[in-house]
Amino acid sequence: MWYTDSRNASFLAHRPGRAVVTGSAFAWPPLGDDQRELLALVRTLATERIGPRAAAIDETHEFPWDIVELYREQGLFGLFFEERHGGTGTGALLALAAIEEVSKVCATSGLILAAQELGSLALKLAGSEEQQARYLPRLASGELLAAYALTESGSGSDSAALRTTAERDGGDYVLNGDKRFITNAGVAGLYTVFARTDATAKHRGISAFVVESDTPGLEVARLEPKLGIAGSTTGELTFDNCRVPAENLIGAEDEGFPIAMRVLDRSRGGIAAQAVGIAEGATDYALKYAKERETMGQAISKHQLIAGKLADMDTACQAARGLLYRLGLMLDAGVDGPELTKASAQAKLFCSDIAMAVTTDAVQILGGYGYIKEYPVERMMRDAKITQIYEGTNEIQRLVIARELVRLSS
Ligand SMILES: Cc1cc2nc3c(=O)[nH]c(=O)nc-3n(C[C@H](O)[C@H](O)[C@H](O)COP(=O)(O)OP(=O)(O)OC[C@H]3O[C@@H](n4cnc5c(N)ncnc54)[C@H](O)[C@@H]3O)c2cc1C
Repeated sequence: MWYTDSRNASFLAHRPGRAVVTGSAFAWPPLGDDQRELLALVRTLATERIGPRAAAIDETHEFPWDIVELYREQGLFGLFFEERHGGTGTGALLALAAIEEVSKVCATSGLILAAQELGSLALKLAGSEEQQARYLPRLASGELLAAYALTESGSGSDSAALRTTAERDGGDYVLNGDKRFITNAGVAGLYTVFARTDATAKHRGISAFVVESDTPGLEVARLEPKLGIAGSTTGELTFDNCRVPAENLIGAEDEGFPIAMRVLDRSRGGIAAQAVGIAEGATDYALKYAKERETMGQAISKHQLIAGKLADMDTACQAARGLLYRLGLMLDAGVDGPELTKASAQAKLFCSDIAMAVTTDAVQILGGYGYIKEYPVERMMRDAKITQIYEGTNEIQRLVIARELVRLSS
């Protein structure tokens, strides 16, 4: 049955032609009724509480603690955690769809959800029972924000070249070095840090640690001003004889690099979701604008060159959602290994490339108005760019996909 949910009336009013479908009718993403209700709640929050903040977040470049508070109150961080750790236990597909919904209106706010998953995943995948019991409930409630610290000034794409060291000293590890471009720097309560425990090995000499933000010797050296996702902090961390108890080692010593890669296999879905959301938000806005703006006696949506752009934009969004939801279904089915690596790289690659193309077209459809800050599409275009870069650039995603294609076919 087709219906419009009354709680979403204002949201749907901005999205002409889109209705919620439930019951036996086609449901996309394919969620159960309870999950759909949760997604409808996220949609309402996005429309009524988050969207109206997006322009100010972009303009002030201030981290939106009010959005974090909203997520805490509404239990949204719980979407990424199992019930036994204080989460909703509702799975990856819903979590990705939630990031998508929020990112339609505010990419910074979408990233706050995605970064919570990114920073928590090493603990979820490889943490001990004790580490999980200590940290995951506080991450699920949002009491702690998380960050993932792999990149350094000399090692981005070549992440195994990292130089931060962790030397064992009695019951501690002593960390020295620095990390670059870390999302949530300065706002996270917990950092997952990758450091070298064996100088003679490359990727086989890296270990993962949980480092609490108030650990002496850990400093946020600077925050980066940037093109987009302006409310998200991106910063440099320095470790100066930073002592971390040995029980904060995640997994076994020297086994941090495979953990870092397994994290990215799962977290890239969050970036794909952010990218699709940005693209859909831009398409919705451009469509509404094109139906209202008239030139040469008719709405610009009726000029074929604009109509063709709109058709391509929506088609790209729908194709991207297909890859995104497929990845969510694979994660929920427990798919792992090369198949998951390939699927997450494909979702991230495609969704981010279409986000850049679609938002650029949205700016074009608005003409001069697209270029000025009074309208949201220029922000969406700036926000889209990062999705092609972080959690592995799209050049690296293509290399990963090709590598896994060859591996899977042999
Ligand atoms: C806003 C922001 C947030 C970020 N958040 C985090 C975070 O939370 N945690 C974290 O650890 N990192 C984070 N990063 C880092 C990000 O993942 C890296 O910037 C990214 O992986 C690229 O690394 P790089 O900047 O060193 O570029 P480089 O590796 O120097 O690459 C430069 C260019 O060369 C290309 N290139 C490199 N190697 C190859 C190759 N073998 N083949 C073909 N092309 C290649 C790249 O695709 C790119 O176009 C963030 C970055 C930004 C900007």
